[in-house]
Amino acid sequence: MNEHPISVDWDEIPEDADDRALLDGAHRTYRCACGIPLGERVKAELHAMETDQCSTCFGRASREVLPGFTEACRACAGTGRRGAQLMWETAYGEAEQVITVGLVRQVTRRLPEPFALSQAADAVRGMLGLPAGRLPVGPRVRDLLLRLEQEGELVMVSAPDELLGNDGSMVLYRDPLWRRITTT
Ligand SMILES: [Zn+2]
Ligand SMILES: [Zn+2]
Repeated sequence: MNEHPISVDWDEIPEDADDRALLDGAHRTYRCACGIPLGERVKAELHAMETDQCSTCFGRASREVLPGFTEACRACAGTGRRGAQLMWETAYGEAEQVITVGLVRQVTRRLPEPFALSQAADAVRGMLGLPAGRLPVGPRVRDLLLRLEQEGELVMVSAPDELLGNDGSMVLYRDPLWRRITTT
């Protein structure tokens, strides 16, 4: 039985709240049932770690990204446990070594356009002969596709699946589509 359920309370969110800070854990107050004063996020993260809980979702297995919008915690594979979180971090580090930007570029060149994140991830998995679930291929491929987009090689062509935030300025994509930018 968990003696340290950490709960999160939303503070009043100002109209002009910074979206990035909001996603990063601002405007919340954290407390633990054991009574230790937590307050801000950093302290809550430390307390989660010392009580063997995931420091991203505070052992809750899901996180409320914004008031009323909850998603399963990816950092601990939805378990809420610190051990699982550490394993995920190690696996992600391994994926970073194996899945390079060059590999992703090579693989996506062969895909019909526009291609979805899931298709690119499957192609990478196939190329490396990785069984599903062996490494966090999807998250790594997503990060690299976003990087290629920033560098001007790709453009995201799908509409967001969800608009979040006070004014819908934050967007969420589940399986976005990309297209290559061809320069002639
Ligand atoms: Zn506690
Ligand atoms: Zn978690």
